[in-house]
Amino acid sequence: MAYDGKLMSRALRQFEEDKRQREEDFRRRENELLRRIPRLAEIRDELRSTMAQIMSKALRKGADVERAIGAIREENLALQQERREILRSYGLTEEVLEYQSACRLCGDTGYTGDGICRCLKEYYIREQIAELSRMLDLGNQSFDTFDFRWYSYDIKSGGVTARENMELIYETCSNFAHKFGRHQDNLLLFGAPGLGKTFLSACIAREVSEKGFSVVYDTAGHIFSQFERQKFGREDEEAESDVSRVLNCDLLIMDDLGTELLTEFVRSALYQIINHRLQAKKCTIISSNFDPETLGSRYSPQIRSRLEGEYRQLPFFDEDIRRQKAEL
Ligand SMILES: [Zn+2]
Repeated sequence: MAYDGKLMSRALRQFEEDKRQREEDFRRRENELLRRIPRLAEIRDELRSTMAQIMSKALRKGADVERAIGAIREENLALQQERREILRSYGLTEEVLEYQSACRLCGDTGYTGDGICRCLKEYYIREQIAELSRMLDLGNQSFDTFDFRWYSYDIKSGGVTARENMELIYETCSNFAHKFGRHQDNLLLFGAPGLGKTFLSACIAREVSEKGFSVVYDTAGHIFSQFERQKFGREDEEAESDVSRVLNCDLLIMDDLGTELLTEFVRSALYQIINHRLQAKKCTIISSNFDPETLGSRYSPQIRSRLEGEYRQLPFFDEDIRRQKAEL
């Protein structure tokens, strides 16, 4: 997984805060227990002084270090035994006095020998979903809530009805999401606005994100402006990191390609994004109101050949679903 520094530092802040909270809760419960049963506090203090005792006794008694240590060890065991019995009489075990880390894999450090631990990764995924939610309605948009009823059986293109076409597109998109990590597909969603392109993008973003992959969703216009800032701005760290996310995330969803102001810079940035991600074997979804042919003449023949050769074409057509819903 390609982690984004900004999201990871947010995830870490929350991770540390939760850990601190758990430790504080534990201390509070422990103090409460020691106040209720003062003998437990005495035993704790006596056990704590053991190391100092060993040192001073050994020094005082010179040669007889072994015996001193032996006596202390016995005293120690007796204290532990007494503590166990006190706790048992209250129906408790010694665990109430030992802080238990929430994650047994990493002991709440967030890292294992293999890298970032599953527990910290969950924090990261939450941050990523929060970030995606700023752009997409992830709360309501999922494959389960997709509604085919809006698509018409009357409108046809190439012998296929809008409804059948949509079922095919839905199938492709849900397969893309379910099998993410096991394929290197790219999708080009194109057609008039209001037919569900962004909805399906959100469904994919949500599912792929929940699987623990890094996902960036943004409009083409905004992505190009980040590239511009990175190129022409002076040591703009945020733009640097945004550009690196766009190039390196596991799944990039670029929405609304073709609505931005077309410049030579935009042409070359788009080519760089498409090419870099193909070479790095990272999946990309592009959605546009223009078909591949129009995109080709707008950008360049090279971009057209990449889009036609490396992207699965998903043409959306029907009446405007948003307008139909608004008219209800
Ligand atoms: Zn862990």
